[in-house]
Amino acid sequence: MVIRFRDYGKRLSDFEQEILVRCPQCERIAKILTLNSEQSSLCSIKRITCHHCSYTKQQPKDGNRKAALLLWQNNYGNKRNSSYEILEHFFGLPLWLQISCCGQVLWAYNEAHLNFLESYVQSKLREHLPDEPLGWHNGSLASRLPRWIKVTQHREKVLQKIQQLKHRL
Ligand SMILES: [Zn+2]
Repeated sequence: MVIRFRDYGKRLSDFEQEILVRCPQCERIAKILTLNSEQSSLCSIKRITCHHCSYTKQQPKDGNRKAALLLWQNNYGNKRNSSYEILEHFFGLPLWLQISCCGQVLWAYNEAHLNFLESYVQSKLREHLPDEPLGWHNGSLASRLPRWIKVTQHREKVLQKIQQLKHRL
């Protein structure tokens, strides 16, 4: 069976409506949600909520990477066991879905993102569709995935790790 992957020009920001992170208070799974999803991603307001310990925090209006970095330093700066972690850029918290794979870190924002990666890696035939009305472009998530995820010899390993990440949901 030939599995086709259709790249509908999905961008990473398309998956930013819900980002799963590790709660800074109880270290369990927490969600960052977009409160005003009708806005463009530049002026969207994010709020983190943890259902385990009821931690909640809203991104300040001028929330930028600098503020996120500061928060990250407060939360994790004094823990010197800094293993290689992927942080989201709204609050600077570690992504919940991340795992070492092929000497790199495989990560995803949420289940939909994970499914996107899975269908990409599973597909033997990758096809591009033109992004109307701009025609062909390379801003899509699929075209920007790192090479190590795309190479055939890593396919089995990457799929296996994606399954492991799904068990954490
Ligand atoms: Zn919590």
